[in-house]
Amino acid sequence: MSPPVTAAIALGSNLDDPEAHVRRGFADLAALADTRVTARSALYRTAPVGYADQPAFVNACARVETRLGARALLEGLLAIEQRHGRHREVPIGPRTLDLDIVLYGDAVIDEPGLTVPHPRAHERAFVLAPLLDVWPDASIPGRGKAAEWLARTSGQQIERMAP
Ligand code: ADP
Ligand code: MG
Repeated sequence: MSPPVTAAIALGSNLDDPEAHVRRGFADLAALADTRVTARSALYRTAPVGYADQPAFVNACARVETRLGARALLEGLLAIEQRHGRHREVPIGPRTLDLDIVLYGDAVIDEPGLTVPHPRAHERAFVLAPLLDVWPDASIPGRGKAAEWLARTSGQQIERMAP
C-alpha cells in the first residue's frame, strides 16, 4: 500500500442509459478498497470525438484519495468496467462505462497498459471541464494548467446537465 495520493478518474458512457452507468460508476469508485471519493463533478453531455457515428456520451470526473498504487487503481477500474458489461470491440467506439486515470498525484507513468497523465486528456473538453469541477487548479504534468488547455477546446460540444 502507498501513501495517500490525490487522483482524478474520468467516467464516460454512451450505451444503455449512460447517465445511470456514470452515477453507478461514482458509487463503485467509492467502494474501491483504500480509496475515498472526495469530489464528484457535474455530469456533461458530449458529442463523440474521433468516431462520430455513435450515441452522445455522458462524462464526469471523480477526485479520489487513494492508497492504491497506480497499477492497482487501474486494475480496480478495469474490474468495475467489466461489471458494467464493458466489451472492447471498437477501440474508440460505444461503451457502457469507461474509467480512465487522468491524474495520479503529479506522477508521470509510461508503462505498457498504463500512461498517466492520460495522453489525450489535455486536448479534450469532456475530460477537462469535469476535471476542473473537482480540481479547479489541476495541473497536467508536462502540459501545464488544465484550465488553460480547456480554453483552447472551444470547438468541442459539451453541455453541463441539470443536477
Ligand atoms: P480509451 O479509454 O483510451 O478509449 P480503453 O478504455 O479501451 O481506451 O482502454 C484501453 C487500455 O488503456 C486499458 O486496458 C488500459 O490498460 C490502458 N490505459 C493506459 N493508460 C490508462 C489510463 N491512464 N487510464 C485507464 N486506462 C489506461
Ligand atoms: Mg479507458
